[in-house]
This record gives sequence, structure tokens and C-alpha cells, in this order.
Amino acid sequence: MRTYKVSIVTPDGPVYSSEVEMIIAKAKSGEIGILYGHIPLVAPLQIGAVRLKNDGKTELVAVSGGIIEVRPEEVTILAQAAELPEQIDIERAEKAKERAENRLQSNHDDVDFKRAELALKRAMTRIDVYKHRS
Ligand code: ATP
Repeated sequence: MRTYKVSIVTPDGPVYSSEVEMIIAKAKSGEIGILYGHIPLVAPLQIGAVRLKNDGKTELVAVSGGIIEVRPEEVTILAQAAELPEQIDIERAEKAKERAENRLQSNHDDVDFKRAELALKRAMTRIDVYKHRS
């Protein structure tokens, strides 16, 4: 399958740059799969694992929301935060998950609830991606 360049960048700098055959990402409107030559597209992303496929292998990157910009021969993800499996501090993610779950169970206003839900999603995504490290 034909490959194209993917870059994942955050305010702290580049996290991933490689040739891939396919990206699977969770846009706010639903999951999207992108192959070489895709029509141009800009879409907001959900918090989730981005899957990058090449040569029969799948790499995962934890992406904490942002924007995907698709051009026919290049894709860029501008993320609020993004981590490769080996960059993830699993204890920190487990603690963040526990904190968020406790907040969701306690009395809260709507703002705290939403914040805790997003924190839980980030933590669960990191835990999921960490499990796929090689
Ligand atoms: P925490 O409550 O543990 O700070 P968070 O979800 O609020 O987690 P973010 O605001 O998404 O953290 O990220 C802040 C910075 O910390 C980013 O640079 C992100 O890549 C990094 N980061 C957050 N959690 C982890 C983790 N478990 N392992 C490695 N880096 C992390």
C-alpha cells in the first residue's frame, strides 16, 4: 500500500514523524481511516489512541484532543498533548484515573463533572496505549 508522511506535534514539540499506510483516529464525528490520497480535511479529534499502520505493524499514540489536518500526501495532527507508549508514566496515569473516578462519584457541579470525565478519558487512553508498548 502506498505510504504518506504523518506528523504528530504538540505545544511541547514533535512527538511522532513517520511514513504510514493508514491512520485510524477518532474525530468528534466518529472514527476515520485515512489512506494515501485522501481528500483534504480538517477535523477536531476526540481524546483517544491514534493507530498508525505500516508494514503489517500498528503503532499507537495517545492523543489528548486536537486537530487532524489531512492533505493528499501528508497528515498532521496538532494535539494538546500526545505520548508514545514508552513515554507514558503508567503510575501517573493510574493515579489520574483514580482521581477522576473519585471526582465522578462525589458531589459535583457540571463543570467539575465534565473536567473529571475528560481527565478520565485521557488517563484511560494512556493506560490503553501503554499496554501496547513493544
Ligand atoms: P495529570 O493529572 O497526571 O497531570 P493530565 O491528563 O491532566 O494528567 P495533561 O494536561 O493531559 O495531563 O498533560 C500535561 C503534560 O503532561 C503533557 O505534556 C502530557 O504529555 C504529560 N502527561 C500527562 N500524563 C502523562 C503520563 N501518564 N505519562 C507521561 N506524560 C504525561
